[in-house]
Amino acid sequence: MRLANFINGTFVPPRANAYLDDVEPATGEVLAHVPDSDSQDVDDAVRAAKAAFPAWAAMHAEQRSRLLLKLAELIEQNLDELAQLESRDNGKSVSLARRLDIPRAVANFRFFATAILHHASEAHIADGHALNYTLRQPIGIAGLISPWNLPLYLLSWKIAPALACGNTCVAKPSELTPLTAQRLAELSLDAGIPPGVLNIVHGYGAKAGAALCEHPDVPLISFTGGTVTGAKVAATAAPKFKKLSLELGGKNPNLIFADADLDEAVSTSIRSSFWNQGEICLCGSRIFVERSIYDAFLERFVAATKQLRIGDPADPQTDVGALISAAHLEKVTGYLRLAEEEGGTIVTGGKRVDRPGFFLEPAVITGLGCDCRVLQEEIFGPVVTITPFDAEDDAIAFANSTRYGLSATVWTRDLQRAHRVAAKLDAGTIWINCWLLRDLRVPFGGVKDSGVGREGGVDSLHFFTEPKNICVKLS
Ligand code: NAD
Repeated sequence: MRLANFINGTFVPPRANAYLDDVEPATGEVLAHVPDSDSQDVDDAVRAAKAAFPAWAAMHAEQRSRLLLKLAELIEQNLDELAQLESRDNGKSVSLARRLDIPRAVANFRFFATAILHHASEAHIADGHALNYTLRQPIGIAGLISPWNLPLYLLSWKIAPALACGNTCVAKPSELTPLTAQRLAELSLDAGIPPGVLNIVHGYGAKAGAALCEHPDVPLISFTGGTVTGAKVAATAAPKFKKLSLELGGKNPNLIFADADLDEAVSTSIRSSFWNQGEICLCGSRIFVERSIYDAFLERFVAATKQLRIGDPADPQTDVGALISAAHLEKVTGYLRLAEEEGGTIVTGGKRVDRPGFFLEPAVITGLGCDCRVLQEEIFGPVVTITPFDAEDDAIAFANSTRYGLSATVWTRDLQRAHRVAAKLDAGTIWINCWLLRDLRVPFGGVKDSGVGREGGVDSLHFFTEPKNICVKLS
C-alpha cells in the first residue's frame, strides 16, 4: 500500500517522490509506504490551508459543527475498519482500538462540534462608563503534530477543536502510524469538509514536522509527543512567537494506601500499567504501596500480570500486543537490563516473546528506590516498578520525585486523605480510585517537563482562538 499526502482535498504524492516504510509491529513486515515529505510538501499544504481559511473562518459555527458531526458519524460507521487499521499499524490489540481509540476519536469530534455552539465570551461593564467585551476569532493555520501511541484519538484531539473554532490546519501524524490519518482524510471528503480545511502531510518529524514548526504562515502549533522533541519544537516555535501547546511525556505515580479496595486497585492498576503495552502517556509506571499491604498487593498484581494474554493484536482475546518498533523494543529491554544493574529484581515478565514482531512480556520490577534511572526516566513500555512506602508524606515525596508531572492515581477510601494528597501531587490530572476516566470539559495537560498549556473543553477553544478586547465608551 502506498499512502499519499492530503492537500487541498486531493491525495498527492510527495514532491520529491520519496517514501519511507511503515512496519507492522506484530510481524516486522512492511505494511505501507509513507510519503517522506519535506518543506515543499509542507509549503503546499500551508498554501492550501491559507486559501481555505477565509471562507472556513467566516462560515457559521452551526455549519462547521454540522460538517464535523457528519465526520464523527462516518468514523463511527467505520469503527471496525478503523480499529483494525489502528491495531495493525500500532501493534495494539484490536479490542482496545475498538473500545478506546476509535470511540474516543468520535467523541472528540462530537464534543468540539457541539462545544463551539455554546462557547460564550466575556463582557464587563466598567462602572457604567465603558463596556469591554472579548471577541474570540480563529487564528489561521494550525500546525498539529501527534505521536504513534493513540494515533487517531490524539490527531482528532487537535483537529476537532482547531476546525470547530474556524481555523484550517496542517496535521503531521506520526510516521510510524499513518494509516488511520489517511482514512480520516478520505472520510473528511465524504463528510463534505471543504478542500484545504484539513490537510495531512506525512513524514519524519525532523523533516516534515520541523518544517511545519518553522513555517512563517503557521501561527500556532499543538504538539503531543516526547519531552525531548517538545523542547526542539519549542526552540523552533518560541522565537517566532507562535502560540504553542506541548503535551509531553510522563512517569506517572500510582499511590495505593492500606485502606484501598484491593481488588479494584489491583485490577485497575493492571490496566493502567499494561494497556496498550504501557504505551499510553497516562500509564502509571511507578506503583507505590503502603508497606502493610505491600506483600498482598504484589502477590495479586504479579498473579494478574501472568494472566495477561500476549499475542496477535488482531485476536480480540489479546490483552497485550506488540511494541511499536524494533528500536522501541530495544529501548525498553535496555531499561530492564538497567533495572538489574541498579539492583532491582524482575519479579515476572521482561522476556521477548518467541515470535516475529516486537513482543515483550509485561514486566514487574521491585527493589528499586526513587533515585534509580528506571524510576526517573520515561520507559513507555509494559514495565512497572513496585515500591513500598511507610507514611503519607513519603508517598507524596516519592510521587513528586521526577521531572515529570502528567497524571497520578490515588487509591484510598479515606476521603480527606484523597483530597489532601491530590492537592499536593505535581500532576495535571489526578485520578482517585479510578484511571483514565475522561470528561472532555476538563483542562488536560501536564506540569514540569510533562508540558506547557492546557487543552480540553474551554481551554482548547481558547487555545485555538485569539481573544481581542473591545472597549466601548458608554458615557
Ligand atoms: P516523538 O516526540 O518522537 O514524536 C511525536 C511527533 O513529533 C511525531 O509526529 C514526530 O514525527 C514528530 N517530531 C519528531 N521530531 C520533530 C521535530 N524536530 N519537529 C517537529 N516534530 C517532530 O514522540 P513519540 O515517540 O511519537 O510518542 C511517544 C511520546 O509521546 C511519549 O513521550 C509519550 O509520553 C508522549 N505522549 C504524550 C501525551 C500527552 O498527552 N501528554 C500523549 C501521548 C503521548
